[in-house]
Amino acid sequence: MQRESRWRFIAGASCPKCEKLDGMQYRDGEQGQEMRCAFCDYQQLMDEPSSQEAPAQMIGVFKP
Ligand SMILES: [Zn+2]
Repeated sequence: MQRESRWRFIAGASCPKCEKLDGMQYRDGEQGQEMRCAFCDYQQLMDEPSSQEAPAQMIGVFKP
């Protein structure tokens, strides 16, 4: 059985790789939140299991 979440676009976020706007997508994967770019092959896994920090909000802030 496969439970695949749908990719959702992150409004106002730009890709750190190709720098295109509104191309970033995310979904809840098995290992955490995955992010990817719709324009290039950029992909990132945001595995932040419950830590002391508050859950990160999707506000489109990326490290360069
Ligand atoms: Zn990109």
